[in-house]
Amino acid sequence: MRCPFCGAHDTRVIDSRLSQEGDQVRRRRECVECKERFTTYEAAELNLPRIVKSNGSREPFREEKLRAGMLRALEKRPVGSDRIEAAINRIKKQLLARGEREIPSRLIGENVMRELGELDHVAYVRFASVYRSFQDVNAFREVIDQLENPHDGGAAHPSDPPAAS
Ligand SMILES: [Zn+2]
Repeated sequence: MRCPFCGAHDTRVIDSRLSQEGDQVRRRRECVECKERFTTYEAAELNLPRIVKSNGSREPFREEKLRAGMLRALEKRPVGSDRIEAAINRIKKQLLARGEREIPSRLIGENVMRELGELDHVAYVRFASVYRSFQDVNAFREVIDQLENPHDGGAAHPSDPPAAS
């Protein structure tokens, strides 16, 4: 970190502490050359990517929208709020981890599907059935089949070929 007073390249950290909320690190630094002191703040950049919808339009990521969609699917299901919040946090983390400015909305849908699949199978099917981007009807049917026969070890896969489209 360059000294803002004399421009020297060498500064040393003399104190480092986490903010009360734990989301920011405050560092007190001292310039090795001029001995001036200054403070830097370090925080993770948590800008979630913008969402590209299937019609090409963009919109900001909205956590409330994600939560509303999941809660709708989970309505009257025996899943606690803390588990739902943990799932939402995992989805956000996965989106952040991609490090991209824009992501297709279908990616969020896939993340939601995966989390709901872990949380509650009824919610999963509810969500899947209204989830438009589930384009492949055969894939959807396979998922439903798997849910109905979870112990169907995969050996007895449907043998009929996919219907021509
Ligand atoms: Zn300096």
